[in-house]
Amino acid sequence: MPSEFELIARYFSPPTDHTILAGGDDAALIEVSPGMALAVSTDMLVAGRHFFEDADPFSIGLKSLAVNLSDLAAMGATPRWATLSLAIPAADEQWLAAFSSGFLSLARRYRVDLIGGDTTRGPLTICVQIMGEVPQGLALMRSGAQTGDDVWVSGTLGDATLALAHLNGEIALSPEEFESAKSRLERPEARVALGEALRGIASAAIDISDGFVADLGHVTERSRVRAIAHLEAIPRSPLGLRYKDLPVGQRCALAGGDDYELCFTSAPVHRARLEELARRLQLPLTRAGRIEAGEGVLVIDAQGQPVSLRERGFDHFG
Ligand SMILES: [Mg+2]
Repeated sequence: MPSEFELIARYFSPPTDHTILAGGDDAALIEVSPGMALAVSTDMLVAGRHFFEDADPFSIGLKSLAVNLSDLAAMGATPRWATLSLAIPAADEQWLAAFSSGFLSLARRYRVDLIGGDTTRGPLTICVQIMGEVPQGLALMRSGAQTGDDVWVSGTLGDATLALAHLNGEIALSPEEFESAKSRLERPEARVALGEALRGIASAAIDISDGFVADLGHVTERSRVRAIAHLEAIPRSPLGLRYKDLPVGQRCALAGGDDYELCFTSAPVHRARLEELARRLQLPLTRAGRIEAGEGVLVIDAQGQPVSLRERGFDHFG
């Protein structure tokens, strides 16, 4: 059986692009560009809790980096370096090769240097730390939403959780529908270019990992404001639109996590710039609400009535 060092050399030692010293010493050495702040985030994925143990290892590798990229996107940071720590039940080289190729394919796409990490024997657990750069003073934070701002959402919400609802037997998707929903669940697209472009435009931002209402709630709490969101304005995919008026569809759009879209606030003066940005990035940006004085998140339905999240069983989520 190959040693830990052989496995690291074989699967986790890609060439680096902007790193002084990567693996092979007691620590890596990096240099942050002048005028930039270092943005650091970490995420741990545990088999059985964050992904299915038997999920395809390429997707697990890709997702473990994607969710970290999404956190940097939410800060408006450009991803630069990552470390990867892995607990694996056995040195299954086929699994490691596929996992590594999923992880590294996304790392190459975003020019992220893998600069270190650790491997150990144990229940399958993946811990990624990501580091990125953001011009000092321009990071997007949860605390900046202002009364009068618009609330925006990128892409569409709900498909990742519709895939889970199908797996739970709650809904029955056709094979094509399930494949498209499952790709949102297993291979989320981090909105890195959007996050970078929102510097100086968004007043606050967060990535939607726990669900729209829960994550917008983190923004209102940190900003000490209230958000009014319109159920009809929540952007849905063609699949999501089919379930739009059913409780399960509403729950997936409002409380489903794992979509990894960005939710951000911005002053109305920036509307035209954001519409232009959506065209340039070929990514829908939808105005779904506004910020007022007060606290909490209020969702209003098409009749202008408040949507009671608890009544619809949303408290099981988040
Ligand atoms: Mg986040």
